[in-house]
Amino acid sequence: MSGKNKQTDNASQEMLRRLPGVDAVLAWAAEDPGLAGVPRSVLKACVRRVLAGMRKQILESGAPPAENDLGRESILGAVRAEADAAMAENLVHVINATGIVVHTNLGRSLLSEKAMAHVRAAASGYSNLEFDLATGRRGSRYEIVEDIICEISGAEAAMVVNNNAGAVLLCLDTVAKNREVIVSRGELVEIGGSFRIPDVMSRSGAVLREVGATNRTHPRDYQAAINENTGLLLKVHTSNYGIVGFTRSVSLKEMVDLGADAGLPVMEDLGSGTFVDFSRYGLIKEPTVQESVAAGADLVTFSGDKLLGGPQAGVIVGSKAIMDRIKKNPLTRALRIDKLTLAALESTLRAYRDAPAAMEEIPTLYMLTCPMEHIEKKAADLEKALGEIGDAKLKCRVMDSVSRAGGGSLPLQELPTKCVAITVDGMNASRIDQALRGQRPAVIGRIENDELLFDLRTVQDGEIAGIVDVVLSALSALSFK
Ligand SMILES: *Cc1c(COP(=O)(O)O)cnc(C)c1O
Repeated sequence: MSGKNKQTDNASQEMLRRLPGVDAVLAWAAEDPGLAGVPRSVLKACVRRVLAGMRKQILESGAPPAENDLGRESILGAVRAEADAAMAENLVHVINATGIVVHTNLGRSLLSEKAMAHVRAAASGYSNLEFDLATGRRGSRYEIVEDIICEISGAEAAMVVNNNAGAVLLCLDTVAKNREVIVSRGELVEIGGSFRIPDVMSRSGAVLREVGATNRTHPRDYQAAINENTGLLLKVHTSNYGIVGFTRSVSLKEMVDLGADAGLPVMEDLGSGTFVDFSRYGLIKEPTVQESVAAGADLVTFSGDKLLGGPQAGVIVGSKAIMDRIKKNPLTRALRIDKLTLAALESTLRAYRDAPAAMEEIPTLYMLTCPMEHIEKKAADLEKALGEIGDAKLKCRVMDSVSRAGGGSLPLQELPTKCVAITVDGMNASRIDQALRGQRPAVIGRIENDELLFDLRTVQDGEIAGIVDVVLSALSALSFK
């Protein structure tokens, strides 16, 4: 060993000797007000990690961590940082400035005030979840929303499960297990990488029978495929893409006629599912649940948290005879909807009795049809507030752009919007984006032409000050790096 290495080695040994033990640091921590709320087990683990990190660094580099003199204050500082990270919640508030309204990765739909109040009441008190208050006997959780769903949709019967993927699985398992399900090749959709009609079908024990071509399917294609083993005709709403050009698809009404001739049930997976005719608000038409019921589908399934604007749930509406069989399927127990979801869903559904009010009350509907003046006002407020930070390196401007419905809904719909675009001298947009994601609340925008855009359509009124705070602290964090 060279003389230099030996010296380093001695210095390391000396430093390791100076490193305090776990109990000594815990004793310091007990007097640190910044660590007062940290449970002892967590604190102990944090102290161990900090000391192990220091030991490792000393052995590897022969020096203590930068700016660390192994003294009480610096070790406690490292423990506080470790404890902050350990105590922070993993599910945190994110400001959605992406302009994607039903953003699956950011939690899809925001609940209305009424829905949140209902969730709170259901969470903090007992309820008649499965108790019939009239008879004093056991009740069914499914009845809580069945009447209101039937009232709005016109269906004979309804039930709700955990999500729409579960609703599709449950329906297929009930009516088509070990039988063939006929689906058009143009409708074999994949949603968000994890839900594919063919995969769900094989899980349910149904056998997929594809008909037609990707762009064109005719009634005669279904007719030719029907045999004694057919269990169901299935229509899947191509919610997240459009097939344009030389196309022909079989309408639900035509499928209902085919089903009637062959004595087969017809199901439609609407995906998003909406009770609102969006074409009345200047948007592209999305088929409504009422229309599918009126067309005579035996079963219709849709999501609770896409265009409906409620909590994650899967809604099934249909004929009473089939729904009675579905309700008896033991799978329902595994796909059971929870009481908090049920509370949020009931309030959301009740809002639809007064459609104009629903457009204001339900955040998803409001954001999709929000008047431009409101978006403009938010953009102007944000631009002004960012300007008031007074950082010469930060440039911002208001610009026109396009928001999206997201969540595999209204895929071809472009929603004109206003964004605030920011740039910071000497820093590319992805670096700023990353810094904003690291803040709490995190702010998620979108990058276009090396500018970071905040799309105000999906930013709530109360979140503008939050964006400014986050930009401010991200800028100061970046200027120290
Ligand atoms: C989104 C979607 C689903 C899955 O719904 P979840 O509520 O996310 O489970 C199923 N089918 C279609 C057509 C969809 O668009």
